[in-house]
Amino acid sequence: MKKFSKYLTPSLVAASLILSGAPALAQDVSTQSASTQGGAASTAQPAKARNIILFLADAGGVSTLIIQQWPHLGLSETSPVDQFVSDSANGMSSIVTGVKTRNGVISQGPDVVRRQKDGAPTKTLLEYAEERGLLTGVISTQSIADATPAANYAHSNDRAKWGEIFPQAFSPRFGDGVDVMFGAGRRKIGEQLVARGLSFEALSQTHDRPIYSTLEEAPAANARPVVVADDMDVHAATLKALDILQQSSTGYFLVVEWDAHTDDPRDGLQNVVDFDKLIAEVERRVDLNDTLLLFTADHSFGLQVDGGGRGQPLLDGHDAWKASAREEDDLVRLKNVLVNATHTAEEVPALAIGAGAERVRGYFPNTHLFTVMMDAWGWKADGASSR
Ligand SMILES: [Zn+2]
Repeated sequence: MKKFSKYLTPSLVAASLILSGAPALAQDVSTQSASTQGGAASTAQPAKARNIILFLADAGGVSTLIIQQWPHLGLSETSPVDQFVSDSANGMSSIVTGVKTRNGVISQGPDVVRRQKDGAPTKTLLEYAEERGLLTGVISTQSIADATPAANYAHSNDRAKWGEIFPQAFSPRFGDGVDVMFGAGRRKIGEQLVARGLSFEALSQTHDRPIYSTLEEAPAANARPVVVADDMDVHAATLKALDILQQSSTGYFLVVEWDAHTDDPRDGLQNVVDFDKLIAEVERRVDLNDTLLLFTADHSFGLQVDGGGRGQPLLDGHDAWKASAREEDDLVRLKNVLVNATHTAEEVPALAIGAGAERVRGYFPNTHLFTVMMDAWGWKADGASSR
């Protein structure tokens, strides 16, 4: 047990043990659950947050075994306006703008026609924070122009338009735009920029803002670093971002995405374990009296545990499956695990701790999480009375 932080949850520890092949000790772990409860949560009046960090496990549904030991828990319903199953674009747009839209659409209203006609831009939490002079950051294991990170800083009628999405970070509608951007996707974003007559170099020069290709390349003296890498170490990136954002005199808003798709169940569950470790480390570095930590997912995924015994490796048969897996397979059948390798419609967990965390409770549409964060700051959404 020593190697696992006390912040790890029973299910995540189980996942860790499964991955490492050690015997499961779920009994042992479940007795530790009281230790991390409390924080700012015990005050009668919900505390105001100065800072908010939103952790987003992409495709991390209840079935992915993510149950953080945070005291405030809700179930978030993720559907777009016209279907049951969400993609990342609608899922994240709904969370950060408070407006449900259509799959494939980046922070535009449901009046959009995907790929064809823009909808009304919907104002994001990051834009509200920029408008009020907070420092902001977006970090992802995925392309920084991919749907989940993009929904924070861009508006587009199609998530695939990376060449149109990425430059929006440099021409913000509010404030001076995202202050800290760390993500992957360098090759493909670069290609799409060139297709539109742009490039990383041209953007850098026009906006007098370097776009580094590795985290290490960004000097500590740069207070607004942009890194678009081939691969992003989100653990290191998040700690580097915190060093910058925590110097803010007005507060900050940080979004951290970690991919948790389990189409390869071993990779997906390892991501969940790694994300959990990062979240525990961040929790130790912030003051929960003035900071809200919120964890959720943009949509769920078709992972099911339908067999297995304690003390036995859950992912029995993974190596054999991996050796014979084909790209087009949409079902993963291991001895104890079945993956219908697609997004699914059931609600996802939302968990919170810190200032304003009490507002996360019960069953709600994912758009409620926007209100939770705005309320934590004590801010009114534009036109809130008519909503
Ligand atoms: Zn997603």
